[in-house]
Amino acid sequence: MNKYSESPAVNPQDISEAIRSCYWKHVDKNGPLPEVKPELGPCWVWKACLTKKGYGRMLIPKDGKRIQILAHRLGYAIQRGPVPENLRVLHACGTRTCQRADHLYLGTDAENGRDTAVHDRRSEKLTNPQVIELRSLYETMPLAELAKRYNIAPHYAYKVATGRSRRHVGEGVKSSTYRQRFQLAATGD
Ligand SMILES: [Zn+2]
Repeated sequence: MNKYSESPAVNPQDISEAIRSCYWKHVDKNGPLPEVKPELGPCWVWKACLTKKGYGRMLIPKDGKRIQILAHRLGYAIQRGPVPENLRVLHACGTRTCQRADHLYLGTDAENGRDTAVHDRRSEKLTNPQVIELRSLYETMPLAELAKRYNIAPHYAYKVATGRSRRHVGEGVKSSTYRQRFQLAATGD
C-alpha cells in the first residue's frame, strides 16, 4: 500500500454511485451507544477493514489507481458535503469506526489531539484482569471484535493489547492493587 494523505479533500461530486453503494454496504446502523455521549444515539459502525489506528478504510479508484481513503471522511462527504484538504473529520462520539453524520464534525489536527486525550482515558475503565484477558485474546481475535467485547474503541483495544496503554498491568506486584492484595494475602486476611 502506497503512503496516502490522511487529509485529502473529498468532494461529493467525485463520489460515484458505485462507491456510495459499496460504502453503505459496510455500515452497520445498529452500533452501540457511545460511552462518552450516549445521548447522541447509536453509532453507525464500519464493518470492513480498519487502519492500524482503528479507523474504517476503503479503497476507491482515482486516476486509474486504487487509493485508500478513511471511511468516515468519505462518509462525511456522502452525507454532509465537501471535506476540505487538511481538515480532519472528527468523532463527537469517540468511536473511530463511526460513520453517522451527526456524530462527525470538521476540525483541525489540534482539536483531534484533544479528542484523543479525552477518549484515551476510557481505557482506564478496563479492570486489570480484563486488560490481561484482552492481551491474550488479541492473539486470535480481530481488533473490531475485541473492541466490541469490551465496549471500547478499536484504537484503545489496540493500544491496550500492544502495551501502549496500561503498560504495567500484568507485572503483578508493581501495580498497587496487586501489591495490596498480595500484602492482604500475606497477612492472612
Ligand atoms: Zn458515533
